[in-house]
Amino acid sequence: MIYLNGQFLPLEEARVPVLDRGFIFGDGVYEVIPVYERRVFRLPQHLARLQASMDAIGLSNPHSVDQWRDLIERVVALNTLADQSIYLQVTRGVAKRDHAFPLEAVPTVLIMSNPLKPPSIALRESGVSAVTLADNRWLRCDIKSIALLGNVLLRQAAVAAGAMECVLLRDGFLTEGAASNIFAVRAGVLLAPPKSNLILPGITYDVVLELARASSLNHEVRPVSEAEVRGADELMLTSSTREVLPITILDGKNVGDGTPGPLTRRLMQLFDRHKLDLRLENGVKAS
Ligand code: PMP
Repeated sequence: MIYLNGQFLPLEEARVPVLDRGFIFGDGVYEVIPVYERRVFRLPQHLARLQASMDAIGLSNPHSVDQWRDLIERVVALNTLADQSIYLQVTRGVAKRDHAFPLEAVPTVLIMSNPLKPPSIALRESGVSAVTLADNRWLRCDIKSIALLGNVLLRQAAVAAGAMECVLLRDGFLTEGAASNIFAVRAGVLLAPPKSNLILPGITYDVVLELARASSLNHEVRPVSEAEVRGADELMLTSSTREVLPITILDGKNVGDGTPGPLTRRLMQLFDRHKLDLRLENGVKAS
């Protein structure tokens, strides 16, 4: 069951007009929100990022935070699984095709649920492989835009090369993955590229840095050079659906000794312990 423009209905019955600007222009924004044991994870943070994306594209938010919470919780309740991945999308609505914003259009709102299947233990033990690629996307990667062609082509290039994700480099520095944030570890220090227009401000990225801070793990938020990526002892990717996952092969070569390193393991463990912890709603407190 999904929610579309005021109605709860089966996915198969849901219809959007061809002139929806999401379909025509990719003119819209989205969120992916994990649900663990029927509890929506970090909802305030996801809704704040949704608001930031809407502000960035000049779209007024059709719902208050309370309305969003209610709609999302109703979709969660209408679906049977305890762990779900909520996909939420708002487009600029239906209008005659013209690039400029329509004077009167009602945003199209979609909320649907998919099964949330975090990475298997086997995958977490082996880690995944990634390839470096030039980040050739636009310069507003901080907006969670539904126009994902750049990310689609990069991810496909990674898959075609037999890898699971790409590690994107722009002007000699690490940005992120096609659908994830990337962290490096060198000499026991967790390195995170700073938030900017060049990366999506990941909710899981924030969780990882909060966990690092709370557990006094050495970490630095600063530009990470290509040389530091290539010579990293550990690499990891983070996202709402993949949580924290080691990258153990980069461009066909082992990262470190080719197995998940100590800092990555520690962060996977901390993430596991805390993802069911309600305290996460408002950020990790130092213990
Ligand atoms: N960067 C990009 C490009 C993404 O698409 C995503 C989410 N899939 C992320 C980073 C990670 O963000 P989050 O932790 O909020 O899922």
